[in-house]
Amino acid sequence: MKIKILLILVIICGLGVVVFLSFTNNFSNNNKQVEASENFEINLDQLNQKDTAMSDYKIKKTENQWKEELTDNEYRVLRQKGTERAFTGQFYDHHEKGVYTCGACHQKLFDSKTKYESGSGWPSFYSSIDGNVKEITDRTHGMVRTEVVCNNCGSHLGHVFNDGPKPTGMRYCVNSISLDFEKE
Ligand SMILES: [Zn+2]
Repeated sequence: MKIKILLILVIICGLGVVVFLSFTNNFSNNNKQVEASENFEINLDQLNQKDTAMSDYKIKKTENQWKEELTDNEYRVLRQKGTERAFTGQFYDHHEKGVYTCGACHQKLFDSKTKYESGSGWPSFYSSIDGNVKEITDRTHGMVRTEVVCNNCGSHLGHVFNDGPKPTGMRYCVNSISLDFEKE
């Protein structure tokens, strides 16, 4: 009988430790996110990828040059692969006719005719302007996704998924801050 009680006590203590550990883990993760930035999450894993090396693209600027040309928030997303918070960007609910260009080098990237309401809180397009967007495999956050960058300057735009509407079935999910807009 005593052994049974002892066993039950051991099990209860073990469960207590597990709950405590998972709680402290969550707590420190949450803290990290808050520290990163209020509106932008930066993906440090991706920064180490060589895919966006300067030499791969026509526009060859040093990170210091980009830092001078872009605002802090633009730099965080375009050059450090950050993500703006959903429903905070200027273009997710934007319906004018024209062309969306790269926020860093102004290359034409998306036609407003291909923009649609995805409900994600980020501007979404079912197609890019031919060949101007480069796709890169992104294995961060324990997922395999396809990152999209401007093929002229290598700046980060967002990701492309295959759950979009007809005719392509693709969803280019792009940060507003990675884009500028030229009205038709
Ligand atoms: Zn660009």
